[in-house]
Amino acid sequence: MSTELSATADNCLFCKIAAGKIPSKKVYEDDDLYAFHDIAPWAPIHFLIVPKKHITSMAHLDEADGALMGKIMTLAPQLALEQGCEPYPSGGFRVVINTGAHGGQEVHHLHVHVMGGPRPWTKG
Ligand code: 5GP
Ligand code: ZN
Repeated sequence: MSTELSATADNCLFCKIAAGKIPSKKVYEDDDLYAFHDIAPWAPIHFLIVPKKHITSMAHLDEADGALMGKIMTLAPQLALEQGCEPYPSGGFRVVINTGAHGGQEVHHLHVHVMGGPRPWTKG
């Protein structure tokens, strides 16, 4: 697990995972996005959605990234259901984007946590 405080596209765990250079349990892939199961899940269902292009954190987004983030946010509920999250409102899921040291970000490639399944969870 990476605990580096920063990463470049050349030295980035999630760039390597999204490119298939490091193995992961794939949930979804298209030209822009890659989704995979978290290696240390906090919840019965826990996967990450990442942009394939390197964006260091949510703090690095600009207006041009709006469509990409919109795509992630509309994909999240679809994948949540596919992965076994029960429907809203009795089920549902949690979405988390840790950003920077105070935000608890450990891997410095923007990633959206999607968690679900019955409570209690390990974390979150
Ligand atoms: P953060 O704290 O940066 O928001 O979350 C990083 C997440 O990436 C953690 O939940 C951690 O378990 C997960 N993670 C770290 N290294 C790997 C890895 O090599 N493979 C996978 N699938 N997940 C990882
Ligand atoms: Zn990266």
